[in-house]
Amino acid sequence: MKITVFAVVLAAALCCGIFVCDSSERYKSESYNWSKEVLDNLGFNQVKDLEYKFYDIRGSTAPELRKEMNAKGPLDRYGRRGDAFTGWYLSWRWPYDKNGRPLYNKTRLKKKITVTMPRWSAPADTDPGLLKRWRKFLENVARHEKNHLDFFENSYGKIPGAIKTAYRKNPELTEKEANKIAAGIVEKIRMLDRDYDSRTGHGRTEGISFR
Ligand SMILES: [Zn+2]
Repeated sequence: MKITVFAVVLAAALCCGIFVCDSSERYKSESYNWSKEVLDNLGFNQVKDLEYKFYDIRGSTAPELRKEMNAKGPLDRYGRRGDAFTGWYLSWRWPYDKNGRPLYNKTRLKKKITVTMPRWSAPADTDPGLLKRWRKFLENVARHEKNHLDFFENSYGKIPGAIKTAYRKNPELTEKEANKIAAGIVEKIRMLDRDYDSRTGHGRTEGISFR
């Protein structure tokens, strides 16, 4: 069976944060991964085909951490560096019958999501105030990324149904037309990401910054 795959690589974006929250002894452990805990708490670990990526940063003061993130933070699809990033890959495909006609009703999707966050192993003597600020920053960043994730999760699954509906209405539906339907849904997700980032200044109006 011949299979055609159409792929789109996409991505959302990032941020920056402050504030105060709880700090408990275990957060002071040098090996404790707060970023993972924050993501887990927001349910990222419940999402299928989602992978965490952490980049390590060092330092014992806020300006040092800022500098590290500025240098090591992930790039978005426009080549802009941020503190965190949610990227996704989506492909759709349909098999063909023995006469080479597309079986649109069997359209399948494949996705892969990557969420990138900083990972700071705080030195044991780190100022507790800085630990609190860092923790709050991570929470704010993760919440922002969760919104990007939700735009994708709430929409990508509509592709097979939209293609099926179009095929039902038009049995002569071409592959070009079917691809256009899928690409239109992808574009809507991109638009939600762009609007959200421009509305919030990549999270700045949500109070997300760390300096
Ligand atoms: Zn964003």
